[in-house]
Amino acid sequence: MARMTCLCGYHLSNSTEPEIDNLVFSLEKWAELLQEADETKGSIGMNTSDNYWKCPKCTRLYFFDLKTFKVKEIYQLEKRYNT
Ligand SMILES: [Zn+2]
Repeated sequence: MARMTCLCGYHLSNSTEPEIDNLVFSLEKWAELLQEADETKGSIGMNTSDNYWKCPKCTRLYFFDLKTFKVKEIYQLEKRYNT
């Protein structure tokens, strides 16, 4: 598995905290994957989605280039609304 240190200093590891590791799909892509899973009896290719880690301490999002597994974009919370 992988690990890295967030800009806030928190140590991120997808082996000890797998909930930080997420995939993002558009609704269109999600529908394609469901169709593909239906046609292949559950086997789908995950290589076209975005992958990001979310720091549980500061909520920064790290998006990865899936070809190089290097961080390509970092997002930081701008504002939080109480709901
Ligand atoms: Zn952080």
